[in-house]
Amino acid sequence: MINRKRSQRRLLLKAGVASIFAPRIVFANTPTNPEVVIIGAGIAGLEAAKTLHAEGISFVVLEASNRIGGRVHTDNDIFGVPFDMHAHWVNYPTANPLIKYGKDNGFDIYRDPRVSKSFVGSREATEEESRDQDKTYKLFNRKIKASAYSVRGDDDNARTALGEDFFKLPWGYTVAANQGVWSMAQNSKDYSPTDWWNSEGGGQHFCREGYGALVAHYGQDVPVSLGTWVTEVDWSGEGVKVITSAGTIKAKAAILTVSVGVLANNRIKFTPELPVEKQEAIDGIDMAVMNYIGLQFTDDVFGYGADVYVDQQQHDENGVGYMANMSGTNLVYSYVGGDQAKALENESMDVSIAYSLDGMKSMLGNDIEKKFVKGYATTTGKISFWDGAYSTARPGKQPMRAVLRQTLAEKLFFSGEACSPSRWASVDGGLNAGKNSATDASRYIKSLG
Ligand SMILES: Cc1cc2nc3c(=O)[nH]c(=O)nc-3n(C[C@H](O)[C@H](O)[C@H](O)COP(=O)(O)OP(=O)(O)OC[C@H]3O[C@@H](n4cnc5c(N)ncnc54)[C@H](O)[C@@H]3O)c2cc1C
Repeated sequence: MINRKRSQRRLLLKAGVASIFAPRIVFANTPTNPEVVIIGAGIAGLEAAKTLHAEGISFVVLEASNRIGGRVHTDNDIFGVPFDMHAHWVNYPTANPLIKYGKDNGFDIYRDPRVSKSFVGSREATEEESRDQDKTYKLFNRKIKASAYSVRGDDDNARTALGEDFFKLPWGYTVAANQGVWSMAQNSKDYSPTDWWNSEGGGQHFCREGYGALVAHYGQDVPVSLGTWVTEVDWSGEGVKVITSAGTIKAKAAILTVSVGVLANNRIKFTPELPVEKQEAIDGIDMAVMNYIGLQFTDDVFGYGADVYVDQQQHDENGVGYMANMSGTNLVYSYVGGDQAKALENESMDVSIAYSLDGMKSMLGNDIEKKFVKGYATTTGKISFWDGAYSTARPGKQPMRAVLRQTLAEKLFFSGEACSPSRWASVDGGLNAGKNSATDASRYIKSLG
């Protein structure tokens, strides 16, 4: 989740209804000798395919997993209601075409009501305490902004930028958790304030049927070769050769939309090896870990109504953030990020569920367990198709994003959320990056005559 300011964060679709109204894009059959190979069928790959189709450029999309959507996926089976296992907050309404697409296609997209509640131990924060918390958010913003615009330009880590006195404030850790581990998916010591400050977003919406359901609908007509692992990209000589679990494809260009985590872990071999500066960029833009823990109850245990953010005063960065009663389904959506997320995903799922449930009990009392139905925890750092949740620049490495998105030899296009110029770590950023890369690829193919 990406939530950059306090109070400004993140049913089953009748599929038949939505698809009746869907504009159908009619793609030609998948070509065997495409002009462009698109690697990955997350939102960036899907948007790249749509863009190339509109440009009249032939392509194939290769996807290692057995579904489209990548890091945005809605599950309806675990809880019997839509559960966005990963991306959930529909960001940036002024420039996110998925909002209009969803509304036009029968999805219930509504504004985040932006209500939040805080606890101090087992009681709600007083008005005075809430005002104090608001001041701490403002202080956080001032300090991060000052660091981002530092004339020294040395881009300290966020912990240094905030200063140790910040963490001694009553709400210091709570604000750092909301803005850091539950947003950047990194502890304060591990992310660049410049990266935090420069990412665009805001004005979030929710999709009642799930953000993943919306993206799956958006990409439903794109032909994708599922279950096809790319193991090597040979960009020596003319064009590119893409070696996959199902054989080799030759093309004039390739668009890579895999996560920066997949690149960092060398899951794809490049021949020749990537240049040193590209490798430095891959290492400088870290794949942060964020996990969601869904907790289903028999009713709205917090009693606040739908989609209300709840946090408890924190004393370190290891806590859990909550969104109560997601879309009115009695599902509490909780999130852990950074070091704590990495530690929990090394344990069993039951440990993560108990950890989150204990946090709720410490606010609401042990009796809520009687209303607990079941839980589910994700482990994004363990998914080899991604190797984490989303990109964040390491301290001092923010400029590496520009290097990461540079095209190699005019024909190897780097795309996906980490390559978005200003909306990294988001679905709309991935879409935007996919469109940009495909536009560039189309221009290149057309220049070949
Ligand atoms: C826990 C979590 C919470 C998030 N919260 C939000 C949110 O609330 N709002 C928001 O806007 N964004 C959020 N995001 C970020 C958002 O989901 C991503 O930025 C976006 O979905 C990335 O899209 P992409 O196409 O760039 O990459 P991906 O979705 O990762 O697509 C790349 C695809 O490449 C495939 N692939 C990988 N390796 C290979 C290979 N070797 N061969 C072939 N295919 C391969 C993968 O399977 C994947 O499908 C969240 C992400 C996570 C994980």
